[in-house]
Amino acid sequence: MTDSYAVIGNPIRHTKSPLIHTTFARQTGQDIDYGSLEAPLGGFAAVVDRFRAGGGCGLNITAPFKLDAFAYATELKEAARRAGAVNAMKFEGDHVIADNFDGIGLVNDIQRNLEWPIKGRRVLLLGAGGAAHGALLPILEQQPAEVVIVNRTVRRAEEMRDQIATRGTLLATGFAELPHAHPGPFDLVINATSASQQDELPPIDTGVFAATTLAYEMVYGKGLTPFLRLAKSAGAPRLADGVGMLVEQAAEAFLWWRGVRPHTRPLIEHLTVPLA
Ligand code: NDP
Repeated sequence: MTDSYAVIGNPIRHTKSPLIHTTFARQTGQDIDYGSLEAPLGGFAAVVDRFRAGGGCGLNITAPFKLDAFAYATELKEAARRAGAVNAMKFEGDHVIADNFDGIGLVNDIQRNLEWPIKGRRVLLLGAGGAAHGALLPILEQQPAEVVIVNRTVRRAEEMRDQIATRGTLLATGFAELPHAHPGPFDLVINATSASQQDELPPIDTGVFAATTLAYEMVYGKGLTPFLRLAKSAGAPRLADGVGMLVEQAAEAFLWWRGVRPHTRPLIEHLTVPLA
């Protein structure tokens, strides 16, 4: 019998997840069906209940439901618990097992695909929302020299820092204070804000970049965003958007559900929008 999976979000019409998982299934010979579900705001649980009652095996969760999924789960895996957010669920009888693969997807993209080791590097993380929360621990596990979290709402950056027990290398600040408190350049600058969705630039200056910096934009499919344009103008030699992170987190979810790891590179190449 064909096993049924889907991605749930609102809006959901631009999602790439059905294409990604259908391609993975074809590549690995897995008999699955993968669709998309748009739940009304406040209606997450009812839509998921219906999907499960219809025999659904698992879901990916995208904005704005990652916290609803966290509340809905009966069992949280370590990464979901630590991130405070869920991006994948597996249904086994009455059990709803929940995990978060955003952070490992980001780290796999940076280290394996872009061949950019994080160990010993200075990292600047822009943003303190769900995506930044998911990214923080997998980044810290790579033993960077230092991670500075900078956020528009400084309190959220400080709360993120304070949630981590061993925080010798972890710092938090606001955009206005950044150039004085933690001057650049950084080896890796990750834009985990949603500013690029509105074609906006987080208030950073060219001093965070150097001729050795990887500038990583989590938003994908938009070409050269204001953040990547600034990095390019500052001479950063490596630019990347979040398409690799998207495909890598999907691969982790697929492995978790199906027990087989798909190849990611052909799909990343297929989905990449040139950064020009
Ligand atoms: P959230 O809404 O949880 O957080 C948004 C963050 O962006 C907050 O830190 C917010 O600051 C900050 N922000 C928003 N607008 C601005 C601005 N104009 N200037 C400076 N900071 C700003 O979103 P997520 O964390 O879930 O997602 C962030 C981005 O990452 C999204 O655009 C999403 O598309 C992308 N993403 C990509 C993934 C991938 O696989 N490639 C996976 C997950 C997310 P404040 O706290 O002050 O409001």
